[in-house]
Amino acid sequence: MKTGFVAIIGEPNVGKSTLLNRLLKTKLSITSNKPQTTRYRILGILTKGDCQCLFLDTPGIIEPAYLLQEYMVKEIKEALEGADVVLWVIDPWFKVENFPPKFLKMIGDKPVILVINKIDLVSNKNDILPLIERMKEYAVKEIVPISALSGEGVEELENIIFRELPEGPFLYPPEELSDRPVRFFVAELIREKIFELYRKEIPYSTGVIIEEFKEREKGKDYIRATIYVEKDSQKAILIGKDGAGLKKIGEMARKEIEELVGKGVYLDLWVKVREGWRKDKRFLRELGY
Ligand code: GDP
Ligand code: MG
Repeated sequence: MKTGFVAIIGEPNVGKSTLLNRLLKTKLSITSNKPQTTRYRILGILTKGDCQCLFLDTPGIIEPAYLLQEYMVKEIKEALEGADVVLWVIDPWFKVENFPPKFLKMIGDKPVILVINKIDLVSNKNDILPLIERMKEYAVKEIVPISALSGEGVEELENIIFRELPEGPFLYPPEELSDRPVRFFVAELIREKIFELYRKEIPYSTGVIIEEFKEREKGKDYIRATIYVEKDSQKAILIGKDGAGLKKIGEMARKEIEELVGKGVYLDLWVKVREGWRKDKRFLRELGY
């Protein structure tokens, strides 16, 4: 049997979460076209035959500007420390000179598989050859071009990962997909809709807490969630004219939550202002950091 932790790291927006979802064939990690959607380390479990791969999706690599981002970098660091294999995801436009060297140091001497994602956006595959040449200087075991979106190259990548896994017994039951409870993913889906629907600082100023989750045998489950923002003005924008904004978030999130839990859900959404929550240690703990 082979079992190992595989850290998925890379700059914001290169497609790390999309790749995790593709590998698991499940939507586990939320994604968006905006950088820094992923804030938490997310464990995704893939069990196939006698291999168990424990993928850790991480926030994008950045120089932290506030406490929440420091926690996000801590998530990357911890994922790397525990990793047996590192998937370093880049896109075809990657500039290695802009990559913070301290993260290269964090990788240390672990086996690294360099994934060049989004090759569906490259019209001529030869265009990535210079990048491949350039990246051979780095101690990477393999360089694998893929498209997480279309799935091209992902099976080959999977085989390479399986090959690199250390011997060892499974750490989770084979049918398990993650170590997080359902309510965590519910909060994440609400956050994803806010990333989809709002621009500028709004998504980054938003934190979601599930206050109540009542499973009911008969009828719909009841979920009460609070969306925290940092300012009154953000609250007004989020709620929208006559509550239209909040209603839209609710409708979109509810559909996906219902898919996740496999039954009808009554989603009760509230918006509250908590000034400076991204710098508030105690509140960040409530959010699970
Ligand atoms: P992360 O920040 O690295 O986790 O990136 P996400 O997984 O959230 O993806 C960022 C954006 O890139 C989203 O809009 C994805 O749909 C898009 N994306 C991810 N992988 C691919 C890919 O292989 N091809 C294309 N065209 N877009 C992709
Ligand atoms: Mg992500």
